[in-house]
Amino acid sequence: MDVQPVLILGGGINGAAVARELILNGVPVWLLDTADLAFGATAYSSRLIHGGLRYLEFGEFSLVKESLDERARLLKLAPHLVKPLRLFIPVRNNWGGLTQAAGKFLGLRGKSKKTVHRGLRVVQVGLWLYDHYSRVARPERAWDGSILPPRSLHRLDEEGVPAVNPKVAKRLWAYSDAQIIFPERLVIDFLADARELAKASGLDFRVFTYHRAALKGSTVEISPTDPVGRGSPDPAPGDGEFTVEPSAIINATGAWVDSTLARLPLPSRRLMGGTKGSHFLTYHPRLAELLNGQGVYTEARDGRPVFLLPFCGGTLVGTTDIPFDGDPAAAVATQEELEYLLSVVADIFPGAGLQRSDIAMHQCGVRPLPYVDAKTPAAITRRHQLVWNDAAPLPLVSLVGGKLTTCRSLAEETAAAVLHRIGRPVIANSRERPIPSSRHTPCAVASPQLMPEIVDSIQTEWVTHLEDLVERRLMLHFQPQLSRQLLADLAHALVQHGKLEVTEIEPAVTRCAARLRSHFGIQLTNDN
Ligand SMILES: Cc1cc2nc3c(=O)[nH]c(=O)nc-3n(C[C@H](O)[C@H](O)[C@H](O)COP(=O)(O)OP(=O)(O)OC[C@H]3O[C@@H](n4cnc5c(N)ncnc54)[C@H](O)[C@@H]3O)c2cc1C
Repeated sequence: MDVQPVLILGGGINGAAVARELILNGVPVWLLDTADLAFGATAYSSRLIHGGLRYLEFGEFSLVKESLDERARLLKLAPHLVKPLRLFIPVRNNWGGLTQAAGKFLGLRGKSKKTVHRGLRVVQVGLWLYDHYSRVARPERAWDGSILPPRSLHRLDEEGVPAVNPKVAKRLWAYSDAQIIFPERLVIDFLADARELAKASGLDFRVFTYHRAALKGSTVEISPTDPVGRGSPDPAPGDGEFTVEPSAIINATGAWVDSTLARLPLPSRRLMGGTKGSHFLTYHPRLAELLNGQGVYTEARDGRPVFLLPFCGGTLVGTTDIPFDGDPAAAVATQEELEYLLSVVADIFPGAGLQRSDIAMHQCGVRPLPYVDAKTPAAITRRHQLVWNDAAPLPLVSLVGGKLTTCRSLAEETAAAVLHRIGRPVIANSRERPIPSSRHTPCAVASPQLMPEIVDSIQTEWVTHLEDLVERRLMLHFQPQLSRQLLADLAHALVQHGKLEVTEIEPAVTRCAARLRSHFGIQLTNDN
């Protein structure tokens, strides 16, 4: 029996993972994004594939178990992107935080506003549970077949451990987690896999970037958001207007879920209550030296967790957690947030002498969290929910919440729910399906010489604008060598492949450079 395509709104990690899961189940898919793929939170996260150690304090055991299970899968299925990471937790005392942790666990809110740092014993209990759940989930093997090492306790003077400030830490706990350097590439890999699967089984699979959807009865009208762009390769460039009567719609637009429903338009209660989170990247050599190539998971003075992570030859520091009601696309790191993160580094690594001028770039994203009346943003659940819209003339579900880590399990759950609603059986899942390896090694792209991989990206990876290539295919904004000349070379390559007119090169470079400056704090020069 033929079925109409399922329309997925949103090309972040969740939309892409669901697209692949539905194609695996023999259902045609159209995926549409009002901007580029991975334009939202997916590109602004801490890039950890983790169980979420601190969720244990809030009693979120099933979320931690699910996340650890997915961590094990991603390590195995996407070893080109997901790597084991050892994280060190500096502990300041023995028993600190015990009462508070127990209070949070029992759902009690203490009266005291005083920050109490989690001590050695509290962290030990958390790590014991974490290790226990990892083993229950499945013994985790890294790419080379070795099992991820369990927790270990270290003295500050041991070799190979981060050289943290002895005034604020007495010992270090170490534990295993994983890091996905480029979730942007996982989005592309999911969609590339979906495209191959669809081709092999003759399914209709289309990706529309820079397009919007409007619901007219049970028909969806699709039109371009951007008359300048040349459109993505599927569909072929044209006037960009399409209509479809989808069998179901999946609203996977992250922090935009409410505004997407309003624009379709469909009535809905408020679903989202996002918080913004900022990071900065520094290439400061002394800080890297003090970190000893390891990750650190520490606490700010207000008790908020902050990560210092090895990333692209530098150190990624974040994050903040601030309620945010504006347009997620406009969220940028403020001076105040950067000062806050710098103060955490100064506290734990005073010897680095990190200054504002050492920040190479910053980024900010909005977490797609469910709307709740929580006083503490950190306490809002990171668990996802599927919310059906009863006012829609066809099955329409919104994905609320979630993490990078659980994108595959969320996709499996969503696909099963949608298949059920459209009367189709679940015939497959992605639990054991390797995620195809991409040839790209973005951190190594340091010269203006254009590699075949870049051309391949322009031709096959739904690139429309120069920014798509720079920020979400090659991730050159994390490169200290990024120059205006490199932008110009890439713009010429876009011209060669029909994505840009020659007369548009200069405006495209200027627009891209301006966004790098305003959005990421990156100042290009003509010749650096
Ligand atoms: C600061 C921060 C740190 C994080 N750290 C981690 C971490 O370390 N580990 C982890 O597992 N998770 C982490 N997360 C969470 C994770 O990044 C998100 O849960 C995940 O990326 C959400 O993906 P998504 O596909 O649902 O949404 P998004 O990635 O936000 O994608 C939504 C897409 O929808 C598009 N869109 C918007 N409106 C429309 C519309 N009307 N029609 C069509 N398309 C539309 C947007 O352009 C965008 O491309 C973090 C998040 C943040 C913000």
